[in-house]
Amino acid sequence: MTVEAKKETLGFQTEVKHLLHLMIHSLYSNKEIFLRELVSNASDAADKLRFEALSNDGLYAGDSELKINISFDKDAKTITVADNGIGMTRDEVQEHIGTIAKSGTKQFFDALTGDQAKDSELIGQFGVGFYSSFIVADKVTLTTRKAGASAEEAVCWESAGEGDYTLEFVEKDTRGTEIVLHLKDAEEEFLESYRIQSVVKKFSDHISLPIIMDKEIPAETDEEGNETALARIEDEVINSASALWTRSKDDISAEEYNEFYKHVGHDYQEPLAHIHSKVEGTTEYALLLYIPGRAPFDLWDRDAKHGVKLYVRKVFITDDAEQLMPRYLRFVRGIIDTDSLPLNVSREILQQSKKISTIKGGAVKKVLTLLTSLANDEDGSKYTNFWKEFGNVIKEGVIEDSKNKDKIAKLLRFSSTHSDAEVQNVALADYVSRMQEGQEHIYYVTADSHVAAKNSPHLEIFRKKGIEVLLMSDRVDEWLLSNLTEFDSKHLQSVAKGELDLDKLDSEEDKKEQEEAGKDFESVLTQIKEILGDKVSEVRLSHRLTDSPACLVTGANDMSLNMERIMKESGQDLNMMGMGGSKPIFEINPTHALVTNIKAEQDDDRFADITQILFDQAILSEGGQLENPTEFVHKLNALLQNLLK
Ligand code: ADP
Repeated sequence: MTVEAKKETLGFQTEVKHLLHLMIHSLYSNKEIFLRELVSNASDAADKLRFEALSNDGLYAGDSELKINISFDKDAKTITVADNGIGMTRDEVQEHIGTIAKSGTKQFFDALTGDQAKDSELIGQFGVGFYSSFIVADKVTLTTRKAGASAEEAVCWESAGEGDYTLEFVEKDTRGTEIVLHLKDAEEEFLESYRIQSVVKKFSDHISLPIIMDKEIPAETDEEGNETALARIEDEVINSASALWTRSKDDISAEEYNEFYKHVGHDYQEPLAHIHSKVEGTTEYALLLYIPGRAPFDLWDRDAKHGVKLYVRKVFITDDAEQLMPRYLRFVRGIIDTDSLPLNVSREILQQSKKISTIKGGAVKKVLTLLTSLANDEDGSKYTNFWKEFGNVIKEGVIEDSKNKDKIAKLLRFSSTHSDAEVQNVALADYVSRMQEGQEHIYYVTADSHVAAKNSPHLEIFRKKGIEVLLMSDRVDEWLLSNLTEFDSKHLQSVAKGELDLDKLDSEEDKKEQEEAGKDFESVLTQIKEILGDKVSEVRLSHRLTDSPACLVTGANDMSLNMERIMKESGQDLNMMGMGGSKPIFEINPTHALVTNIKAEQDDDRFADITQILFDQAILSEGGQLENPTEFVHKLNALLQNLLK
């Protein structure tokens, strides 16, 4: 094969330029992380080669001892990190080094504030990778040769980290990637072996490949000062070089666990919690799983990769094993290593493997147990943090994982009328423990915002009676509630659906009043129904309102108005789905002055106008949209004008 040796100069993607600039300025206080990032990439490259070589032994080309070499040159002021991993082709270099392919890039740039401290946190979440080299280097030369390619197909990439980079074919004798950092003048501190060793020890000790550094052995002399051995350079392994998860828990420090997380999780911050365990039996596996401290940018991206890597007997197999974690635990990071699968597993085998589903079942159980213990922890701050970041994802679990539904239900947290802030911190068990004598159900209201839920007219009677109501305003809540109808043998009941059977909580006096009002208002209800026609299925007196004149209620088995709105917004045709057509019930409050006044109204037109206004108002308080807003405004203004005459 003949290859063109032409040297190309290419411009960085705008985002890369922006990221580089930010990184160099905001990560400066943490500059030594460049070494961790390069070592981490080298280790991934070795993992990939080991996996590919399972089906193509020839890729090793006689060199199967995978390792990372770090060396430095004091005179040239360079540090070199080299690996004999998978390497890259020219196209791959262009694709991976010089562009950012990560999902969530746009959200990332949108989230930047210009405040250095905050932005450096964001960069941390985004993952910095290869570009962190430019924190310490003013020029970086990357030479790489893909496993299986010939010496002349190697590629050299070079850049000063500003606007552009060059790319050209070069010769490279060995497979893998070599990165030379030309250090800035102020960064000479890294040209000392003890400095490099201590950084590697701190960040990369857990890397399972040997990290080798040249060590200068000084000349040896005997008592008389005669040289007995010449000064020489020897290779020294400067990390523990054993897969962290294979070590015993007692021998692993908190720092080591954290650093391993940063490596597998591609995160820059500490994890919230981890679980490390070994399962024995017919299917044997070890797992080391982490709950991140923060949601990644691509949490809501359907195509985002899953975060758990599968290893078989310490050989990396895939980091895209959907089969290992359900979607609602997609934020979990870490590794699962099993002895019970063959090394040459294919995607198809993975998909059908019974062993994989056993492992998944076990891993899910472990994660749920870890979350439960965080939730029950006396210092609830970790769980509060977890819920803030991942609560909405966990809610999907009630729908997705019916087997673990009860466990997941205990993990749920909601806002409620009994907690002041908007934070979701009320567990269903807390709610149940606060239920009143005679209260049978767990009550909730759904709306499209917290403010709307909190101010819903449906809550009035509950406020009056001091009954707690859960406030739900996340999109997923409607689906959650259609899958979670009971907790601790108590029915979950919407305050805006069906008849409220608060009878047991009503006093004798209340009941008598209601009966009398019923008779009084019979003809008014009929008249209102005639005016509203088929916009409503029924008009009745309300037992839920104290301050508002009217509200809309849906039938016990109908879709909530909030759900209807969500479905419409997402472009679903409810009629086509056979779900349209259930009309709401219009309830009026017989104790409200407006309502008692229309009862006395003699003018039929005015009666009709006020009825229409009350109906439209009820729609508005549900967060709904009026069919004809202008007409509403006209009617209301006409009434106001009358008032001011
Ligand atoms: P990340 O590691 O988070 O994906 P990087 O910017 O560090 O981001 O690297 C981008 C990509 O470049 C990697 O995903 C990998 O495909 C490739 N790459 C980087 N370093 C190496 C290496 N030493 N060997 C092979 N490929 C590498």
